[in-house]
Amino acid sequence: MGIQMANSENIKKAAELLNSGGLVAMPTETVYGLAANAFDGQAVARIFAAKGRPQINPLIVHVASIAQAEDHVVFDARARKYADHFWPGPLTLILPKKENCEISELVSAGLPTIGVRCPAHPIAQQLLNTCGLPLAAPSANASGTISPTAPIHVAQSLGDKVDMILSGGNCTEGLESTILDLSGALPVILRPGTITADDIAQVEGLTPEVGYGNPEAPTSPGQLLKHYAPNADLRLNAVDVAADEALLGFGSLKFMGVKGGGFAKDLPQGQMLNLSENGDLYQAASHLFAYLRRLDDAGFSKIAVMSIPNTGLGIAINDRLTRAARK
Ligand code: AMP
Ligand code: MG
Repeated sequence: MGIQMANSENIKKAAELLNSGGLVAMPTETVYGLAANAFDGQAVARIFAAKGRPQINPLIVHVASIAQAEDHVVFDARARKYADHFWPGPLTLILPKKENCEISELVSAGLPTIGVRCPAHPIAQQLLNTCGLPLAAPSANASGTISPTAPIHVAQSLGDKVDMILSGGNCTEGLESTILDLSGALPVILRPGTITADDIAQVEGLTPEVGYGNPEAPTSPGQLLKHYAPNADLRLNAVDVAADEALLGFGSLKFMGVKGGGFAKDLPQGQMLNLSENGDLYQAASHLFAYLRRLDDAGFSKIAVMSIPNTGLGIAINDRLTRAARK
């Protein structure tokens, strides 16, 4: 069926596919998700198969509302506050499963918790409301590769392994959701995203701990060290670029030289892309995956990446780049 316009007729078709065990790629504000009925173990197994995803890596369950999430996970007063503040939006909450929870065990990879999120994208919302199901949905790409921020990326990565791709244009956030673990005494960020630790601290006056800090000792399944990877090798914090490297820039290129002589700004078109000429982290986040993909597709075997400040949203961008650079 391939890429389909997200009109009401196709959203209805997508909802029917989901209700009969199919896989639908849906736009969200973060990245495109590969959705299946979270109750249906067989449908969820198809997600893992389509992505080639290790089954120890749990999936996020997407819901239409807090009320729907409450059917499956335990919301205490603290969780309620975060959801009220950030939902719908790019924040995933890790919460204890309810007793008699009917979400497939495969979704949570056997953990006693589930990651839940209510996406803000209007098409994701419409699809969730029309199908009436909680939807397990990881990013709609082959496991370990660059996340999809446009429908064509899904088609290129998954082809006919997905029953339908609902088109919703480019994703505005461009980075996966921030994951906040609320299953313990203190809130812990397991994955940085566009909602930053500072944003989260506004809610309760409590700065969350950071659980992704030590790449040698991930604190939960799924914090894979190598992830988001292009085919090309990445060289981070580059202060110059070699003649045979592509350049992923950030901010001004004025002082960026080419090894052996010349300036990066004079590189041929197609060898250099700038995440944000004026150093806007939000713009850089929304371009990151699409630009990595473009340089990769252009056939460069090495990409030099300029340094991104490691504050605020820059933390999430550097998290993705560090994992993408791992061999
Ligand atoms: P993806 O959907 O590909 O962005 O990946 C979802 C990520 O959510 C996984 O890689 C895990 O890191 C995280 N996740 C989902 N559910 C849980 C959970 N119950 N506990 C901890 N992390 C989770
Ligand atoms: Mg992913």
